[in-house]
Amino acid sequence: MTLLIDGHTFHYEMENLCRLFFPYQKIKVLGKFPENCKEKMLIYTGIKKEPNGLTLTVRVQFGEYCREETEWIGSPECGNENEQERHMAVLLFRLLTAYCGFVPKWGILTGVRPVKLLRRLISEMGETKALDFYQNQLLVSEQKTKLSLLTMQNEGKILSLSKPESFSLYISIPFCPTRCSYCSFVSSSVEKTAKLVPEYLRLLCREIEHTAQVAASLKLRLETVYIGGGTPTTLSAEQLDTLLSTIRRSFHLSACREFTVEAGRPDTITAEKLLSLKKHGVTRISINPQTLNDEVLKTIGRRHTAEQTLSAYALARDLGFDNINMDLIAGLPKDSLESFVSTLDRVIGLAPESITVHTLSLKRSARLFQDESEPFRNDTQTAEQMIDYADEQLLKYGYKPYYLYRQSRMVGNLENTGWVKPGFESPYNVFIMDETHTILACGAGAVSKIKDPYSDSLNRIFNFKYPYEYINRFEEMIIRKDQVKANYGKFCRISERTPSD
Ligand code: SF4
Repeated sequence: MTLLIDGHTFHYEMENLCRLFFPYQKIKVLGKFPENCKEKMLIYTGIKKEPNGLTLTVRVQFGEYCREETEWIGSPECGNENEQERHMAVLLFRLLTAYCGFVPKWGILTGVRPVKLLRRLISEMGETKALDFYQNQLLVSEQKTKLSLLTMQNEGKILSLSKPESFSLYISIPFCPTRCSYCSFVSSSVEKTAKLVPEYLRLLCREIEHTAQVAASLKLRLETVYIGGGTPTTLSAEQLDTLLSTIRRSFHLSACREFTVEAGRPDTITAEKLLSLKKHGVTRISINPQTLNDEVLKTIGRRHTAEQTLSAYALARDLGFDNINMDLIAGLPKDSLESFVSTLDRVIGLAPESITVHTLSLKRSARLFQDESEPFRNDTQTAEQMIDYADEQLLKYGYKPYYLYRQSRMVGNLENTGWVKPGFESPYNVFIMDETHTILACGAGAVSKIKDPYSDSLNRIFNFKYPYEYINRFEEMIIRKDQVKANYGKFCRISERTPSD
């Protein structure tokens, strides 16, 4: 597909919109038609200046099919680039909707944080006008508008817990027992990288100690700890013990509201490991079935069965874990609506404190989308029905949505929603999604986000992506970490203040 951009700079938004409808197409973005263009799928988007305004034109030409829409916008809107972009997005959205016969429920929104956007709109124009704009100008469906509003109300209580000196700690364990076919993270199969784990852990502990010194020198207050990945429970019980002891020794945890460890893959969970987590004060774990259909589990390359998920869950309950999250994915290959419904019903029957319902994201780097011998084609309508069923049932069984985000290339342009029983929210998930406060992150692929407590300004400090780079260039990365202090120095004089309670 070729996307032409003429007289404007909205190529990013236009490309993302095209991707909503054609997730598998390679999209070439050009400034003018190439000579002798033989492209069968052409989209033209252009802005022409007129004496009193602008004319926007969008044309789709797919073989014999050709449709065009134009719109004239006068002042004051024509002077506002955001409005120009929105008008053009609406034109393109209408044309693609008509051609594809499907209406994405998030309208022209392609960003990852729709709830944050709604919050900003409400603060700028009041709730009534903001909801009207969300639905009628951004074309978000009534159903997703309600979901956004409910999520925003629920997350609001958690956001207010964060103070200017608050921060969260994220630790990355980028190893998994096998690589899921839909995975696009840096995680490596532990079978291939097992020999790196001891050295990785040794250096990770050093980075944690160094990060704690930086946080202490800035008088920051640790609100939440989140160990994710990858699958942290690929570490042995002794290795987990070393990691958790280092965290406890290095940081003040007296104000810590949450200590989560993702025990994502049930085949990595043992009583010994769970006891190690308990001993070190871990308050919340995640056991992720993704699906309870063994056929689908096999297709997506997870080497465990539904039965193992159920046993791991029962074991965690027996050992006293009273805050367990379970992740599910809608839109998995070879999954059907009936099988998803059965998975969700069984998971609700287990009564975990939270259930996170993801929609499959069609990331190019994932094996699932590279294996051309057996191309995976998603069924958008089925994924939508899965998400609709989940929303309905979870509300019915007393769960409430409290954080929500989207990724690029999600099946049907849907969303990921964290559902929780009141009182068991994970503040970390809200803080990271909202970018409320600083996240200091340790480990390969981790990204520290340094947030100015008094404005929206946020700087990122990237760690090396892969474990071997992390190990080989560790000292370089530690020096990079010192930018945290420099950032805070620029943001505010927080180091001269005494932390409040
Ligand atoms: S468990 Fe998560 S991080 Fe690990 S391979 Fe699967 S999707 Fe990737």
